[in-house]
Amino acid sequence: LFIDHPLGAGQAVGLTADQAHYLFGVMRLGQGDRLTVFNGRDGAWSAEIAVASKRGGQVTVLAQTAPQQMPPDLWLLFAPIKKARTDFIVEKATEMGAARIMPVQTEFTNAERIRQDRLQAHAVEAAEQCGGTFVPPVADLVPLRRVLADWPPERRILWGDEARYGPADTLAGLARGPWAVLIGPEGGFSPAEREMLGALDVVTPISLGPRILRADTAAVAALTLFQAHLGD
Ligand code: SAM
Repeated sequence: LFIDHPLGAGQAVGLTADQAHYLFGVMRLGQGDRLTVFNGRDGAWSAEIAVASKRGGQVTVLAQTAPQQMPPDLWLLFAPIKKARTDFIVEKATEMGAARIMPVQTEFTNAERIRQDRLQAHAVEAAEQCGGTFVPPVADLVPLRRVLADWPPERRILWGDEARYGPADTLAGLARGPWAVLIGPEGGFSPAEREMLGALDVVTPISLGPRILRADTAAVAALTLFQAHLGD
């Protein structure tokens, strides 16, 4: 269970109504039962349910069971698509160990805004589900051009470029270090955006294979390729 609270032995932590519903209604846990809690910073901890009630409750933190894991320094930049598919991308990027998730607005992006809080909640759920101790921050929607204008020069970008149209590129030989993966919207990047990306030194275009993948598939494929070669 993700708990947004510092964790230490003996700490009593109150539960929100949503957490109480999940633990006592869905998982059928009750007073005296044990669970694992994490806050994204202090590793995993065992905890015991001290108070169980429909509208809340309390757990007592017992002992650390695993140190904090940090994912490889990999960001995902993607253009949000339909709601369910955007949720899917955030969920899968969390499972695949992205360290930061950045929705970007491109010329062919339909979404004018996103529900950042909802997407962040999806990242929390995905981290809970996959037993991770890290929750990637999900940023608010920012125009791609603005993101690239402030881009840290040491972080390189793997640009999923369907126009390369060939076998999937191997990432063997690329240096470790801070990276980001960039995936476009259903309509792809505009000619002007493609020109801008092609002119940037930090950008390495990659093929994900000869078929044009849907944006959500492309995001998962690119993260998998990265983790296979440069991740841990
Ligand atoms: N509108 C484009 C077209 O019809 O040619 C397709 C865009 S594709 C649905 C969405 C995004 O997924 C692309 O912008 C790209 O970043 C990524 N993508 C899809 N297939 C890819 C491939 N085979 N190699 C690399 N990137 C790919």
